[in-house]
Amino acid sequence: MGIVIAIDGPAGAGKSTIARGLAQRLGFTYIDSGAMYRAVALWALRENLDPSDSHRMEQLARAAEIRLEAGGGVSLNGEDVTQAIRETAVSVAASVVAAVASVRRALVEKQRAIGAQSNVVMEGRDIGSVVFPAANVKIFLDADPAERVRRRAQETAADPARVSGEIEDRDRRDRARSESPLTQAPDAVYLDSTGLSIEQVEEAILRIVRARITNGKEFR
Ligand code: C5P
Repeated sequence: MGIVIAIDGPAGAGKSTIARGLAQRLGFTYIDSGAMYRAVALWALRENLDPSDSHRMEQLARAAEIRLEAGGGVSLNGEDVTQAIRETAVSVAASVVAAVASVRRALVEKQRAIGAQSNVVMEGRDIGSVVFPAANVKIFLDADPAERVRRRAQETAADPARVSGEIEDRDRRDRARSESPLTQAPDAVYLDSTGLSIEQVEEAILRIVRARITNGKEFR
């Protein structure tokens, strides 16, 4: 297994921006695990399937050919879905699909296979708690709800009131589900990014990475 840096936390905490930047600086592979749940959800919506139908969702999750490109691009069964998976309806359906145990099993297998091949910065909800319990570094990245809404609204150019409702619903569902709920792993470092710049958060995590991983040969 390669080196694993796990970054978990609620929606809008800045995980994607931070994880992508860190991966670039370290020369690691960036993995957005949420994009995988989104891809399965998009497929379900297109097929008019109920995202809580565990049997059908497992079939989709197992059959889905999901590719995550280094630049953040995502493809599903050969089609570029980078933009399509970011739509609000997909965000909501993703958190419903993500509560299905068999879907999680299928996607966690794919995530572990990637981690076995290379050094990764992987972001999600259960990376430090379930996918890679032995990750070298675990960060739980959080921010005030108002800040998370502001960031997400800015990122998606959406109405803050709508974003607020969507994030709240999704976080509630992600925290309440019985299967791999969003939770801080006991050995994860809690980092509140409220009021911090991207650079400040990156630096804080890099300090932790350097302290935890003494074999610095892999780092630039
Ligand atoms: O990270 P992102 O917001 O794109 O994830 C979309 C949804 O996928 C989350 O709301 C969550 O329900 C689910 N997810 C998950 N476990 C992960 C990553 C994402 O359950 N590791």
